[in-house]
Amino acid sequence: MRIDEIIGLGKPAVSFEFFPPKSDAGFAQLYQAINELHAINPTYVSVTYGAGGSTRQKTVELVGRIQNELKIRSMAHLTCVGHTADEIGGILDELWNSGIRNVLALRGDPPAGQSQFVATEGGFAYADQLVRFVRERHPFCIGVAGYPEGHPQCLNKTRDLEHLKRKVDNGGCFVITQLFFDNVEFYRFRDAAREMGIKAPIVAGIMPSLNVAQIKRFISMCGAKIPQPLLVRLEAMEGDPEAVYAAGVEHATRQCQDLLANGVDGLHFYTLNKSKATVQICKALNPPHAA
Ligand SMILES: Cc1cc2nc3c(=O)[nH]c(=O)nc-3n(C[C@H](O)[C@H](O)[C@H](O)COP(=O)(O)OP(=O)(O)OC[C@H]3O[C@@H](n4cnc5c(N)ncnc54)[C@H](O)[C@@H]3O)c2cc1C
Repeated sequence: MRIDEIIGLGKPAVSFEFFPPKSDAGFAQLYQAINELHAINPTYVSVTYGAGGSTRQKTVELVGRIQNELKIRSMAHLTCVGHTADEIGGILDELWNSGIRNVLALRGDPPAGQSQFVATEGGFAYADQLVRFVRERHPFCIGVAGYPEGHPQCLNKTRDLEHLKRKVDNGGCFVITQLFFDNVEFYRFRDAAREMGIKAPIVAGIMPSLNVAQIKRFISMCGAKIPQPLLVRLEAMEGDPEAVYAAGVEHATRQCQDLLANGVDGLHFYTLNKSKATVQICKALNPPHAA
């Protein structure tokens, strides 16, 4: 079922993001996490596409399995990295033929060691081109990415929003944001997007900060900021993993409560294939979400 038949209609969506593991042990942990998170009754789940297209086949297989065997509404991420349009067309055909109806259309990051994204010959330079291509290939519901604190490669936030608008105008049905820790950034972004005429539902990306070194690594890659008081608090606890975990869950829970109170269209949890923190947060919220 298409996600846009159920999202943005009043009840907030709750979704979980997974990545294709590299090993059998990783798959066992993932299926355990999916099993535990299934009990929350998510609106949908999504499966990432490895940097450089490295998980191409695993993404297609995993998303199909979650959709067809576990019967959970699913979305496949897809990037332009290293692919010609013909190759992307083949992946879209495979997804469509295996019953997937939702695709998150992304440009992707430059491969490791490169600072600038270079389009593959015969491929796409920006996600808005991929969105149009996906829409013309099959009637997918298309999600696109948004950046409350601006995309790191676009220093002008208005320009970045214009690029987001083009993705929506080309066929993007809803927006999922990059992770953020300060809701003020999200509200500013949402207001600015609405002023610019972006009407699509905007889903907030949530990642609890459960490990100080890991979260610093993520934010250095994606351009999000940790509010100074939270960072100071987490750094003071760095030698005590349980305290860091508890503080991370507490902050994310408060963030989600505030977002729900302010009419967010959905909460998208970056689970890193683990269920414990996300289950704890969702149980504390207990929102009547769209499922
Ligand atoms: C929810 C979410 C899920 C993600 N999942 C994955 C994943 O599964 N796999 C993965 O590899 N990455 C993933 N990413 C990361 C994403 O691929 C990177 O953030 C990437 O750098 C940008 O992708 P995009 O689709 O936003 O690109 P775009 O929308 O194309 O934007 C990229 C940059 O180009 C600028 N831009 C856009 N259009 C134009 C234009 N016409 N002219 C000039 N500049 C332009 C934008 O302002 C921005 O700075 C995800 C990100 C999010 C938020």
